[in-house]
Amino acid sequence: MMIQVADPKASYLAHKQELDAAITEVMESGWYIFGSRLKRFENNFAGYLGTTHCIGVANGTDAILLALRAVGVKAGDAVITVSHTAVATVAAIDWMGAVPVLVDIGPDTYTLDPQKVEDTLQSEIGKKIKAIIAVHLYGHPADMDTLIEIANRYGIGLVEDCAQAHGATFNSQKVGSIGMCGTFSFYPTKNLGAFGDGGAIVTNNSEIAERIHLLQQYGWRERYISEVAGYNSRLDELQAAILDCKLAWLDDGNQRRREIAQQYNLGLQGLPISLPVERAGCGHVYHQYVVKSSVRDALSKHLEAMGIRTAILYPMPVHLQPGYRDRVVLGQGGMQVTETIVKEILSLPIFPELSDLDIEKVVEAVRGHFLKQK
Ligand SMILES: *Cc1c(COP(=O)(O)O)cnc(C)c1O
Repeated sequence: MMIQVADPKASYLAHKQELDAAITEVMESGWYIFGSRLKRFENNFAGYLGTTHCIGVANGTDAILLALRAVGVKAGDAVITVSHTAVATVAAIDWMGAVPVLVDIGPDTYTLDPQKVEDTLQSEIGKKIKAIIAVHLYGHPADMDTLIEIANRYGIGLVEDCAQAHGATFNSQKVGSIGMCGTFSFYPTKNLGAFGDGGAIVTNNSEIAERIHLLQQYGWRERYISEVAGYNSRLDELQAAILDCKLAWLDDGNQRRREIAQQYNLGLQGLPISLPVERAGCGHVYHQYVVKSSVRDALSKHLEAMGIRTAILYPMPVHLQPGYRDRVVLGQGGMQVTETIVKEILSLPIFPELSDLDIEKVVEAVRGHFLKQK
């Protein structure tokens, strides 16, 4: 039996009775789109994050696309984000007809380098930039204080991509509630995951919420009358009911992820690898536990042979991918950090149901690799 890197089925089995009951309830209700379960989940998730609005949508990519539209980005405008992210972040910018301007990351938290954002805003393309997307990658918050200050000074939008950071905090505030709006994915392996696709946008701004409500269903305010040109992106009742169940366990799951990270941190001390960093004032939720090693490929091969799956998120920066390299612009300051770390990063298994015994096996296998080399 391989130790998986993530295991959404384990989360189902751990809560099978409650989830099965919630699913059956929706099926028997006969109401499958835009109903009371969606409302309940939207209210509970907004309450959990400390925002006044939450709008469920079809997936995390749509959440970003709609958020950009709602904060006023138009086709032909430019939007700053990172190249080291799920391609979805950049795809959403591209899909709405804006130009992705990709900027390098800091080497410890793998999130936007604010100095390079500032330099890019000062550069030739700066005047076209209408928003920044801060990605809280792996569950660690980006440097929101500095990014808010920059966004305010330039009068541009700030969207948080929280797809990997449900429940993460920055100065005790939940991510998603800090910028103009926050976007979430509920893809099955995320910290809060559905059994299918799902996403949400949260905001404290009622005009932004209003615009998203219109855009998400054909531009309708009144049924069958499109007030603006719209789109279709809905979170269905089944996924909403499942997410509402799972929301109640999110903090426990994140706490367990933090414990696992702590055990890895202790067990892997003293080896020639870099361990994840948690900045002061930040609450990391360890969607991924990412180490850096100059012998990454050999290490991952060794772990696979020992029955341990690992992952590389992500092996190729978006600005080098064939589908996007001609559709993005590079910001100021180069891509030195991004292009270096993609050769070294490795995600070790982490999910709430991972057992202490399996954690020990992973630690022993990593240690074994470096002993073997001596
Ligand atoms: C998963 C993810 C997304 C996309 O979410 P989907 O639900 O797959 O559309 C966007 N950004 C980041 C950082 C992600 O990890």
